[in-house]
Amino acid sequence: MNADFDIYQLPEEHEYLRQSVRELAEEQIAPHATDVDENERFPQEARDALTKAGFHAVHIPEQFDGAGADSIAACIVIEEVARVCMSSSLIPAVNKLGSMPIILSASDEVKKQVLPSIASGESMISYGLSEREAGSDAAAMRTKAVKDGDNWVINGTKAWITNAGVSDWYTVMAVTDADKRANGISAFVVHKDDEGFEVGPKEKKLGIKGSPTRELHFTNCVVPEDRMIGDEGTGFKTALATLDHTRPTIGIQAVGVAQGALDASIAYTKEREQFRSKISDFQGVQFMLADMAMKIEAARQMCYIAAARAERGEKNLGFISSAAKCFASDVAMEVTTNAVQLFGGAGYTRDFPVERMMRDAKITQIYEGTNQIQRVVMARSLIGR
Ligand SMILES: Cc1cc2nc3c(=O)[nH]c(=O)nc-3n(C[C@H](O)[C@H](O)[C@H](O)COP(=O)(O)OP(=O)(O)OC[C@H]3O[C@@H](n4cnc5c(N)ncnc54)[C@H](O)[C@@H]3O)c2cc1C
Repeated sequence: MNADFDIYQLPEEHEYLRQSVRELAEEQIAPHATDVDENERFPQEARDALTKAGFHAVHIPEQFDGAGADSIAACIVIEEVARVCMSSSLIPAVNKLGSMPIILSASDEVKKQVLPSIASGESMISYGLSEREAGSDAAAMRTKAVKDGDNWVINGTKAWITNAGVSDWYTVMAVTDADKRANGISAFVVHKDDEGFEVGPKEKKLGIKGSPTRELHFTNCVVPEDRMIGDEGTGFKTALATLDHTRPTIGIQAVGVAQGALDASIAYTKEREQFRSKISDFQGVQFMLADMAMKIEAARQMCYIAAARAERGEKNLGFISSAAKCFASDVAMEVTTNAVQLFGGAGYTRDFPVERMMRDAKITQIYEGTNQIQRVVMARSLIGR
């Protein structure tokens, strides 16, 4: 035996981070989660608490005034916040999604313009890829950008943009050369005060009701040429490379909500009595709890491995990041549905958090690519296309 054997074990600093975020989440985020959901309001308390503690965007490199935390640390923050409130976990998750195109591909000038304001918490950033008619087939987008002197002029509409209206910055993919399809798409950083930019009304959703989802409208929106991310025509590649880094964060968000539902189920089944026994004494209930915990643990490890591989900058991340997101989100849907089952009638009411968790979990099977699209990505990687 070797007690110092540290392969397949998170370093102490990561466990310490988990403990700190868990305490903050339980004390300052969980108490507002029901109200945020019921009133479909932005979790400002969570934003304030996360920002004060420096957990709102831990991934921003030190060079740009950030904490420079690694991808597993970023996952741990998202996981622990999602365990109590999925809507709130979209603050660190989408700050990462929106800023990854810049971190991966932008010039130092763009990085200096945008990243310090995300690092300080003064601003949030969203990611604008999808359109109404271009979801799974994102390369079919219609939003276009035309060069005009020293500026680009953007026209079109992006759909389903998380945290739109709260964010100051938006990374936006637009067609700059329609003949080249995916190679004719470029990425830009847009600021909420840019001329010709506005956001639409909030979508009315099944879950994550505290996280506003809106359209972005561009009407002759003028963006200075130095706010292009990377070279002209590289925007779609950057958008996909971003998803390789952020799909593990959606997977871990799913793990977090599933863990929250399991924890609530364990507590409830140890209290609730039927047939003059605690329901946790019934083997049928115990087996459900065991299956839930087993699948959550497998999903968690897969997400950390995907995050670690992304952190190392490994090539061919497509399979592992899609697999982690797909597996974990399918687990979250199953676990949260079973949590409602374990609460019986009470689980179907809004008196307990598990119905919210079940509604919130569903989106993890849809955004950043549906789980069908994740399977397309995995299959392509397997058969070499
Ligand atoms: C709450 C929410 C937040 C979001 N946040 C963002 C965001 O911040 N930024 C952003 O850019 N986008 C965001 N999205 C968009 C999201 O990524 C898309 O909704 C998703 O990619 C699916 O696209 P779609 O809705 O157009 O569905 P469609 O593409 O119309 O898919 C409909 C169905 O067809 C299936 N399908 C499509 N193509 C195939 C295929 N080739 N093989 C098998 N099945 C297929 C899909 O899996 C799905 O079941 C968000 C969406 C929601 C609902």
